Amino acid sequence: MEFSSLGLSDPILKAVTELGYTKASPIQEKAIPAIMAGNDVMAAAQTGTGKTGGFALPLLERLKGGERPKANQVRSLILTPTRELAAQVQDSVYQYSKYTELKSDVVFGGVKVNPQMMRLRRGVDVLVATPGRLLDLHGQNAIKFNQLEVLVLDEADRMLDMGFIHDLKRIMKLLPKNRQNLLFSATFSPEIRQLAKGFVHNPVEISV
Ligand code: AMP
Repeated sequence: MEFSSLGLSDPILKAVTELGYTKASPIQEKAIPAIMAGNDVMAAAQTGTGKTGGFALPLLERLKGGERPKANQVRSLILTPTRELAAQVQDSVYQYSKYTELKSDVVFGGVKVNPQMMRLRRGVDVLVATPGRLLDLHGQNAIKFNQLEVLVLDEADRMLDMGFIHDLKRIMKLLPKNRQNLLFSATFSPEIRQLAKGFVHNPVEISV
């Protein structure tokens, strides 16, 4: 399917066109309309399928219309299991949002916390984060969730494998209840379905 028929706005279409994307991948074709319609979504998709665009493009589309983030506020959160993935996802988000006013940032552990705290002061529309550092920063009042609208779990199966379940539960308790939830995982194991119960509400299920 052509990207132009998915209902994405011009600034976002311009960015994907510049990246050389012409046709939406199967996961994008299914996930983009479901997410743009405001649903919670649970999607089974491997790396390399275009899953990042599948959640990031409709996320940016939703955020584009809303109020700007106030100091230290985060309007959407993408959680990833590793810093490498976090950096890669934020790079994609940055490219996709190039022609919008939306600000994105990434925080992960293993590097100094102070520069991250400084950057978060301006507020961000999309924060990509690993769970431990996110909790640290929240504990230091550097991140506030009053304006949070969307939570994305990327590679949820790897997050469980890496033992992040307690961090994820702690994070979810800090977020406003009224939000859109997107869960992306390579597989839907029984453990993922269990996690999903407390996380997504009446989700649209997608697999490719
Ligand atoms: P991902 O599965 O999200 O890690 O994406 C895998 C690679 O495919 C990345 O390099 C993307 O930039 C690229 N990609 C994602 N969607 C498309 C598309 N619709 N057309 C061409 N390339 C794409």
